[in-house]
Amino acid sequence: MGSSEPGPGPPRTRREPPRFRRVSVHRVEPASPRLVRVTVSGGDLEGLVVEEPAASVRLLLPASPGEGLVLPRWNGNEFLRPDGRRPTIRTFTPRRVDSENLELDLEVVVHGDGVASLWAAGAQPGAPAAISGPGRGYAIDRDAPAFLLAGDETAIPAISQLLEVLPDDTPTQVHIEVARPDARLALPDHPRATVEWHDLPSDAPPGDALVAAVRTSELAPGVRVWAAGEAAAVQRIRRHLFEERSLSRDRTTVRGYWKHGRAGDGEK
Ligand SMILES: Cc1cc2nc3c(=O)[nH]c(=O)nc-3n(C[C@H](O)[C@H](O)[C@H](O)COP(=O)(O)OP(=O)(O)OC[C@H]3O[C@@H](n4cnc5c(N)ncnc54)[C@H](O)[C@@H]3O)c2cc1C
Repeated sequence: MGSSEPGPGPPRTRREPPRFRRVSVHRVEPASPRLVRVTVSGGDLEGLVVEEPAASVRLLLPASPGEGLVLPRWNGNEFLRPDGRRPTIRTFTPRRVDSENLELDLEVVVHGDGVASLWAAGAQPGAPAAISGPGRGYAIDRDAPAFLLAGDETAIPAISQLLEVLPDDTPTQVHIEVARPDARLALPDHPRATVEWHDLPSDAPPGDALVAAVRTSELAPGVRVWAAGEAAAVQRIRRHLFEERSLSRDRTTVRGYWKHGRAGDGEK
């Protein structure tokens, strides 16, 4: 008995991300009262190479604090635990990879009740985690006449990396929105960078001050823009750049790093 009705077709499959590498917390230090630098280490980091700045890694955490770490399996579309539950995975910038000592620094915004935020705020040396990556970073056009970097606190690690590698003689405007004044911190020196910090008013939606800063920025002809932060806010930035400033898409990189009111990152 056959049917000529088209079936649902094979399940959608996506390319399997890099495997998870087991690590443990090695060191924890505050980069600012809002940003915690967590150094993880482990033999499994051997071979982890991050070539581009502003790349990403997935951080796998235990389902609840104190629980052991169960590595998930890729089912063709997503990672799942052997019991079928969704694992706790968040995305971060691999701020520093030390391939000699097999260490990796993550800088995590301590914003409240998020699993990763709580993990970073209370991380104890020896606590287990796992890392998969890297995900794509930013390909720098070294001939660009100018750069504009814009982000909220989650983008501070990526912006710091960019400042370390952008050409020394290229004018670079940096705009960073902070939810609290004490989130400001010293960024790597860049001879042609001007850095402006923008306080988010307590009653404003995240990203409001950043959007306003980009809207009022002068854009040099041919400028390359890199922006990251809360998804709806960076969407407003993207629209402004394309529709009101007529910036071409290949000169603009805009990435949603988190979604207001939703757990997980903004890129799902
Ligand atoms: C490519 C990429 C790189 C990233 N790099 C970094 C990085 O280096 N450092 C970093 O801290 N984050 C980074 N992020 C963002 C990070 O993945 C998200 O902020 C993530 O949601 C944090 O997980 P959580 O468990 O703390 O909160 P979740 O459990 O995911 O969210 C809980 C609640 O908190 C809210 N929330 C999440 N993040 C914030 C925030 N920053 N401020 C206020 N509220 C928030 C959510 O909207 C939700 O309501 C990156 C994201 C991407 C996609």
